[in-house]
Amino acid sequence: MLERLPTRDRLISWGMSVPAACPLCSLANESHDHLFFNCVFSTAVWSHYTGWMFAAASASPAAVLAILDQPHISSCSGAAVILKLLLQVIVYNLWTERNQRIFRQSSSSEAAIISKVDRSIKDRLLSLPPLREGSISFLLLYLTSRSLFPP
Ligand SMILES: [Zn+2]
Repeated sequence: MLERLPTRDRLISWGMSVPAACPLCSLANESHDHLFFNCVFSTAVWSHYTGWMFAAASASPAAVLAILDQPHISSCSGAAVILKLLLQVIVYNLWTERNQRIFRQSSSSEAAIISKVDRSIKDRLLSLPPLREGSISFLLLYLTSRSLFPP
């Protein structure tokens, strides 16, 4: 969110000689906004969750923050927790995938990243107690949220 990761546009601005192209798509230069929000690869991952909490794939960090202020999210504290976790897990997995491609010459498909995101979220939510005694668990909220937050 603070755009401090050493993306290729930043490395080049610091005088380093690195390729400018995005390692996920090779269609544009790598920057924070491109890598995490506008890349076709990233958009495919985000799109898995559109129509759920997102009306559309997020285009910037500011757009992500605006989603957290939407009434259907801010009025449901469980949804806000899940959404914040989802943002962190997606960004982490996109950054990891980018690094795998650069440093290990291995790549995963969008479907594999979505599977990793889903598994990570379920594992984390399973460890969280419900917000209040008697309320549904975060994991159950996540699993049923497509019906709770229809497009
Ligand atoms: Zn890209």
